[in-house]
Amino acid sequence: MRIRILGTRGGIQASGSNYDKYGGDTSCFHISDGDNYIILDGGSGLRKLSPSMVASDKESIILLTHFHMDHIIGIPFFTPFFNKDYKFVVYGPKDTPDEVYNSVNGILHKDYFPINIENFQSDISFNTFIEGQKLSYKSFNIEAIWVNHSSNTLAYKVESNGKKIVYMTDHEPYKDFLHPVPPSLSKYNNDTNLLYDRIVDFIKGSDFLIIDGEYTIEEYRSKRVGWGHSSYNSSLKLGLDSGIKQMMFHHHSQFRTDIQLDILDKKITSYIEYNKLPINVIFSKVNHYIDI
Ligand SMILES: [Zn+2]
Ligand SMILES: [Zn+2]
Repeated sequence: MRIRILGTRGGIQASGSNYDKYGGDTSCFHISDGDNYIILDGGSGLRKLSPSMVASDKESIILLTHFHMDHIIGIPFFTPFFNKDYKFVVYGPKDTPDEVYNSVNGILHKDYFPINIENFQSDISFNTFIEGQKLSYKSFNIEAIWVNHSSNTLAYKVESNGKKIVYMTDHEPYKDFLHPVPPSLSKYNNDTNLLYDRIVDFIKGSDFLIIDGEYTIEEYRSKRVGWGHSSYNSSLKLGLDSGIKQMMFHHHSQFRTDIQLDILDKKITSYIEYNKLPINVIFSKVNHYIDI
């Protein structure tokens, strides 16, 4: 599998020369295996696929983790949606396909945007994805798990030809702040240890983990508890607890410049080397490719 990184930021896009290296667009990944591909999240990075759209396959699926703006704002700017030769199914964490449609179309209300989904010319349909669901699409086998965020949010596990990637963004450690859990998790009785263990079990055995890297521990503790995100510290712990060997911090704060991210990268890498931790950590950089 090949990961193409299209959008690395959380919250809102960042622009300017301070953001060239790691990128200013919000969450989006293109995952390919041969000619087949899927798209994870529709942040502003999605529009970058437009000019260089993979010509070999005009049909694909887009898996949305949730409907926060930074994960769907690229959808109105994705030019294949305006080409009748393309066909897409957009999946998201709702109870019905209509709810997925409505949540996406919400940002295309005439108060916010001049056209809406009805004006798209591609064949586009909507479907639900929830924890426990399994989807086979071409060479990809996909499943998902609820994570701890302010609205129902999924992490996806994508398997193809024996390799597995987990995409877990917008997740806050359960023990620090418990967001309302979906009804299917009520059996855990809000036990944060059990909820954490199921996340660890989901990740275990995967080859690559894309993880929430929004805050430093100081930022998190200073007024950001309950905002739905992780610190580097808690994400590193989750990676280690899950036995992951390759992990990538993602969803960079819109305030974090290239220089600051370089410094954090060095600091965390030195910490890992000094403590001989069995994990390799990188930071997501726009337009980079990672082969799994
Ligand atoms: Zn986000
Ligand atoms: Zn979010």
